[in-house]
Amino acid sequence: MYLMDIFCKIINKEIPAEIIYENNHVIAFNDINPVAPIHVLIVPKTHMEGLNNLPEEGDQQHILNAAAEIAKQLGVSDGYRLVINCGEKAGQTVFHLHAHLIAGRDLAWPPG
Ligand SMILES: [Zn+2]
Repeated sequence: MYLMDIFCKIINKEIPAEIIYENNHVIAFNDINPVAPIHVLIVPKTHMEGLNNLPEEGDQQHILNAAAEIAKQLGVSDGYRLVINCGEKAGQTVFHLHAHLIAGRDLAWPPG
């Protein structure tokens, strides 16, 4: 049996989160360990482990659309970054696909 990860539990409202955006496809909430003044996690409601498990169409578009909408709502459309860590070597710690929307400070390039 599949044991639910923390993001599935947030989606099911079994544990609380500071939800700032939600539609039929994705949910977005503040990261509990923010790396910038704005650090929102955008999570598809369908469980998939990571970027390697995306369907051919659907959720990727929903994630990107949500990112642009959230940036607009938060007033950071002029400067934000979307990051998807895929795999432990890249820093993925929760194995339910999610994108980090980071903004509110100057962002260096290349990222670390
Ligand atoms: Zn999950």
